[in-house]
Amino acid sequence: TSSIAALLARGERSFSFEFFPPKDAAGEEILWRSISELEELRPTFVSVTYGAGGSTRDRTIEITGRIARETSMTPMAHLTCVGHTVEEIDQILDSLAAAGVRNVLALRGDPVGGPGTPWVPTPGGVDYAADLVALVRRREQFAVGVAVFPEGHRDCADLEQDVRVMRAKYDAGAEFAITEMVLRASDYLALVERSRAAGIDIPIIPGIMPILNLNSMRKMVELSGREMPAEVLRRIEPLADDPEAVRAEGIRIATELCDELLAGGAPGLHFYTLNRSKATREIYTSLACHA
Ligand code: FAD
Repeated sequence: TSSIAALLARGERSFSFEFFPPKDAAGEEILWRSISELEELRPTFVSVTYGAGGSTRDRTIEITGRIARETSMTPMAHLTCVGHTVEEIDQILDSLAAAGVRNVLALRGDPVGGPGTPWVPTPGGVDYAADLVALVRRREQFAVGVAVFPEGHRDCADLEQDVRVMRAKYDAGAEFAITEMVLRASDYLALVERSRAAGIDIPIIPGIMPILNLNSMRKMVELSGREMPAEVLRRIEPLADDPEAVRAEGIRIATELCDELLAGGAPGLHFYTLNRSKATREIYTSLACHA
């Protein structure tokens, strides 16, 4: 399979889809159905998240390996520092390489107590994504991406500190970045501006998650330490009693956001699919660039 850094360097618009390892057989069936439905859109790459702990962690290697072997798509495995020694990280990288996976999204991971709780170091491990980037880059076979945050990471003192963290990941060898879900195009554009001003010249791909259910979106936004934009709430809240209408308006809002991001120069779009294909396909086919 290909290096995502090389795919992005071709300068074509990138489309990518993110999945998570399912917990049971029913979830597994839904995942592979979604993967095959989204394969038809010929994404630039697809990614699989890394669990907070426990048995789903090995599943990231299995699923990305199977995507590499059995589909036409380029997989990327997410990997975090949580609970791992450097030795374990090296073993995981061996397994990924053996499975034919050439791309890693290097993350710190949330603290074991959940977002907002204190970070607990693992003896023999590393504490920051930048250190993990360096570990992965020691091996030439991997392209490495990192996470960035349109409004700054929730635990970051201010945007200046947030830029310093981005710069550290860049200096460690990050070749591209994917953002936490973007709530407003202007946040993404400001992030790109801050990054460029700090000399960070890698592709920054905005993350997209449509509102399909207002309450679950509210929870996710809250976990990220942010607030739902007033202009979005003004459109969604009046529909709160009608789940179908919320979903339809959520898709419209996300499609408009995607169009604005691409028009503003975003190199592509990264969709958080939650292992479903329908909403992503609806947005993808409605984009101005596909009209
Ligand atoms: P870091 O860059 O290490 O930053 C973490 C915190 O430490 C920040 O507040 C930062 O400001 C601070 N910091 C960094 N370096 C220093 C330093 N040298 N000194 C002091 N403070 C510092 N989580 C998962 O568990 N699995 C996944 O698969 C996953 N995928 C994700 C994909 C994307 C695209 C995104 C945006 C997030 C994902 N996450 C995932 C969540 C992510 O792990 C959390 O947001 C985590 O809290 C931050 O990760 P990071 O890689 O940005 O960490």
